[in-house]
Amino acid sequence: MAAQLIDGVAIARSVYGELKRRVSVVSQKGVRPGLAAILIGHDPASEVYVRNKTRACEEVGLNSEVHRFEADCGENDVIALIQRLNSDPRVHGILVQLPLPRQLEAEGILEAVHPDKDVDGFHWRNLGALVAGHVQFAPCTPLAVVTMLEHEGIAVEGRDAVVIGRSITVGKPVALMLITRGATVTVCHSRTVDLRAHTLRADILVAAAGRAGLVTGDMVKPGAVVIDVGINRLPDGKLVGDVDFESARQVASRITPVPGGVGRMTVAMLLANTITAAERAAESAG
Ligand code: NAP
Repeated sequence: MAAQLIDGVAIARSVYGELKRRVSVVSQKGVRPGLAAILIGHDPASEVYVRNKTRACEEVGLNSEVHRFEADCGENDVIALIQRLNSDPRVHGILVQLPLPRQLEAEGILEAVHPDKDVDGFHWRNLGALVAGHVQFAPCTPLAVVTMLEHEGIAVEGRDAVVIGRSITVGKPVALMLITRGATVTVCHSRTVDLRAHTLRADILVAAAGRAGLVTGDMVKPGAVVIDVGINRLPDGKLVGDVDFESARQVASRITPVPGGVGRMTVAMLLANTITAAERAAESAG
């Protein structure tokens, strides 16, 4: 029997309902949550992501602003803007859209964002807090993965999870969050010798490699839950994940589609983190 879909659009819709309620409560305390996005250069995918985030802010009732720089801008100019936004009380979350143009050091720029406004969860302080189990802001895509599992009532504790990808923004935080929730986690990457041997043991398989068609049905344990984080554009313009959806869905019990899976929930988690930041600001002001 084909796997049941984990519908990121439907889950995001229900999450948005709760987010709107939280915006209304915090706004009554005189704080309207605000997100500032910084977009450097003209990467078409980044333009789309920032546009989607801006639209989502409007839908949920957050203030949003977009600050643009040319690709050849200086790091100091970007950092000066971040410092201004750090002290702007109308801005509760600051998002630097990645990837950055080659001449810019992502580390210095991401570290300039005040940890209390780091709604992407990429500042070392927030990543360190995640390791220590004291989460202030979890990175949005990993948070989307565990929120989708929770929303669908999929048990994590005691299960074998395999994460493909070890990036600091996706693979590693997903692995940490699954460990925190009681899974036994294996992290695979480009140096993993026999990927299939690992994936076949996974009750929960998270693919975050950025390689179209990397995971095929014969690599999936029967009945596994498959979460496809990958976003890949094929030469014909089609958007696909890392999982060969058609073959994997014949073997898995639950599977996320691309598009319409983790991506939609990632935006919802960005808004959730921004609202959390605004709630904290309202609490410390009152
Ligand atoms: P990344 O920084 O390029 O990391 C990719 C990871 O995958 C690396 O750890 C790499 O291993 C591993 N990898 C690459 N090829 C592999 C292979 N053949 N076998 C096993 N592992 C392999 O990418 P990322 O930022 O983590 O993003 C991963 C994917 O998620 C991308 O498609 C990205 O577009 C997508 N993404 C989606 C969302 C969303 O909202 N849905 C958000 C963020 C990212 P090494 O470390 O050994 O190089």
